[in-house]
Amino acid sequence: MVTGRHRGTKAVIDLGAIYHNVKEESEHLTSQQELFAVVKANAYGHGLIPVAQAASQAGAAGFCVALIDEGLALRQAGFTQPILILGVNSPLEAVLMAQNDLAAAVGDVAFFEQAAPFLKQAGLKLKIHLALDTGMGRIGFRTAEELTAALAAVNQLPEQFDFEGIFTHFATADTADQSYLKKQTVALEQMLAVVKKRPRYVHFANTAAAFWHPQYQGNIIRYGIGMYGLNPSGTELKEPRNLQPALELVSQLVAVKQIKAGDSVGYGQTYTAQNNEWVGTVPLGYADGWSRRMQGFSVLVDGKYCEIIGRVCMDQFMVRLPQRFELGTKVTLIGKNNGQVITAQKAAEHAGTIHYEILSALTERVERQYV
Ligand code: PLP
Repeated sequence: MVTGRHRGTKAVIDLGAIYHNVKEESEHLTSQQELFAVVKANAYGHGLIPVAQAASQAGAAGFCVALIDEGLALRQAGFTQPILILGVNSPLEAVLMAQNDLAAAVGDVAFFEQAAPFLKQAGLKLKIHLALDTGMGRIGFRTAEELTAALAAVNQLPEQFDFEGIFTHFATADTADQSYLKKQTVALEQMLAVVKKRPRYVHFANTAAAFWHPQYQGNIIRYGIGMYGLNPSGTELKEPRNLQPALELVSQLVAVKQIKAGDSVGYGQTYTAQNNEWVGTVPLGYADGWSRRMQGFSVLVDGKYCEIIGRVCMDQFMVRLPQRFELGTKVTLIGKNNGQVITAQKAAEHAGTIHYEILSALTERVERQYV
């Protein structure tokens, strides 16, 4: 994808904030625990390699990604720390993962028998983390019996597999109601009971578990959203850290005009001016990840909230301005502008989603600038 470097729209990433957020979380770890930075999805839209560098400088001991390709990108950039692929992996990719020292999450016993011949032929051993589905319903072994079968399969193939880790993922660690979390931990205990020899890594915690459930963490914190400076629960639970949001999304006015009462703006004629109004055009649209659902939300221009009017287009959207502004005037979509602020959380609330989606949806068309 081509990055737009000549239109004055950019995501400004504060790597100092990433560093701070990782450092601060690290101070809450026990001596047995390590922080793995979750940098999947282009580091939640912040940029894989720069974020990995900042996290690593702040003491992250390893990385979690969703895709093999994300792990390969880290290796190609020279990172030598442990990397865990959290997503499901095809046995056909076992050799590639082993060659690049990428640890595979495995939640299906067939993986071992299917991947083993390839690894044997290549003379390689693959690090694996057994995934336990204790209630997320996504990937992993669901019962002690299934896990027992998986352990037997791994133990039978010690030349092909290095049983490095076991993990689960909580579905509700970010909510006040802990009843489902409790159920998951009961299921987890039942499954862990059949693991006679614990592997090096036993891990359960995302950011929310790291913040609010110290008793259910294990020895790796898979630190994602907190590293980007956002509260995993949105607004439900108060964040226990001094998080610094790392991303600002800014643009500029590229067209400013006065329209008359009765004039319409945008596709589908969904907005018609009540009065003579000043309208500005901002060069960012849904192909950049700024969804059509943002219609009716506001951006900041000179410290003033200006409503997004008409439908968001593929590459541009329009805002109602309180007055005429010069072309090139800064527009803030997420971040601070003249004493006012728009958070990713507010944008998410407007769009009926979570801030994770707002940030990770920003496409490569949006230039990233690192400060
Ligand atoms: N662990 C797993 C398995 C995940 O899928 C994710 C992200 O979705 C994380 C950890 C990180 O979660 P968070 O960003 O809430 O810290």
